Amino acid sequence: LTFLGIESSCDDTAAAVIRHAPGLPAQILASVVEGQTALHAAFGGVVPEIAARAHAERLDHCVEQALAESGVTLADLDGIAVTAGPGLIGGVLSGVMLARGLSMATGLPIVGVNHLAGHALTPRLTDQLAFPYLMLLVSGGHCQFLIVHSEQRFERLGGTIDDAPGEAFDKTAKLLGLNQPGGPAVQTEATLGDAKRFAFPRPLLDRPGCDMSFSGLKTALLRARDAVMAEKGGLTVQDRRDLCAGFQAAVADVLAEKTRRALEVYAALNPEQPALAVAGGVAANTAVRARLETVCAQAGVSFLAPPLRLCTDNAAMIAWAGIERFRAGDYSPADLVARPRWPLDATAAPLLGSGK
Ligand code: ATP
Ligand code: FE
Repeated sequence: LTFLGIESSCDDTAAAVIRHAPGLPAQILASVVEGQTALHAAFGGVVPEIAARAHAERLDHCVEQALAESGVTLADLDGIAVTAGPGLIGGVLSGVMLARGLSMATGLPIVGVNHLAGHALTPRLTDQLAFPYLMLLVSGGHCQFLIVHSEQRFERLGGTIDDAPGEAFDKTAKLLGLNQPGGPAVQTEATLGDAKRFAFPRPLLDRPGCDMSFSGLKTALLRARDAVMAEKGGLTVQDRRDLCAGFQAAVADVLAEKTRRALEVYAALNPEQPALAVAGGVAANTAVRARLETVCAQAGVSFLAPPLRLCTDNAAMIAWAGIERFRAGDYSPADLVARPRWPLDATAAPLLGSGK
C-alpha cells in the first residue's frame, strides 16, 4: 500500500509518502516538514490565526514536494491520510479540505487520523512491534501513558493534570534567558550543573496512579531563581546550570517513577513482547531517556525510541496510521470531521467514533 499523509494540526505543515507491504519494514519515501517557529517567535507561543494562514499557504507545496521527492504520482497512491484533530481548528480544516479535494479529483479513499494516534502508532512504523505495547507520549503539548491495544484502541492510564513537560522546559528556558525551544537548551546547561543544589518538588509521587503535574515545577524554578537574584543581584553561569540540572532531574524522576507504575498495569496484560515506546520532543532528553531505559531494563521490557524526526510532529506517522486503519478496514467518512478536541481513549470520551 502507498499512502499520502497530511498533517497541519499545530505549528508544523507536513506531507509524507509511505509504502508498506505486510511482513516487510515500511518505507518512508518522503517526509516533508515545514516548521513555523520563526513565524511565531515574536509572540512567545503559537498564534492560531498565523498558524492557520501559514498552513493554508504551504500545504499544496508540501504535498507537491512529498510527491516529487518520492517519485510517486497521485495515480500510484492507494489512499490519503489526514489529521482530523485534535489541534488548532484552522490548520486541521485546511488539511482536511485539501485531502477531500484530492480525494474528489482522484477517487482515492481518505482516512481521518487522530494526531495522537499517529504519535502512538509510530513505533510500529519504525519497528515491527506487536500489540499491546505501552506508550509514553511526552511533548510540548501532551503527556500521557497509553496502552496501545490495536490501531484503534488506546487505553489511557494517566497523564499530566496541568502542563506538559515540554512546555515546562520551554518556560524554564525563558525564565533563565535561554534560547527556544527550551528543551535542548536546558539539557545542555544541565549537563554541567549540580542537580542537588536546589530542592525541586516531585509532584504527585506521593499519590497512587499514573497522573503527573508539572506546573508546580515551573513555579519552584521561578522562586529559586528569584531567591538567587535577590541574594546576588543576578545569575551566574553556574547558577543557571544548577537550576537547569535540578529542574531536569525532577522531571526525569517523575517520569521514571510514573513509568514504573504504568509498566505494572501493563504487565498484568501478559504481553508477548513487552515494550515501552516513547514519542514527543521530550523523549529526546538524554537524562529522561536514560532513566526510562533503566526502569524498562529492571522490568524486563524493551525500550523503543523512534528517531527524533519521527517523534516530533510529522506526516509520516499520519500516513502510517492511515495505512494501519485502512488495512483493518477501520475507517469511515465520520472520522473526517475536523475536531479541535479528540481524546484517544474511547472509554474516557464516547465522542471518539470509530466510525462503525
Ligand atoms: P505536540 O506535538 O504535543 O502538539 P509540540 O509540537 O510542542 O507539541 P514536539 O514537537 O513533540 O511537541 O516537541 C517539542 C517539545 O519538546 C518542546 O517543548 C521542546 O522544548 C521539547 N524538547 C525537545 N528536545 C528536548 C530535550 N532534549 N529535552 C527536553 N525537552 C526537549
Ligand atoms: Fe504532536
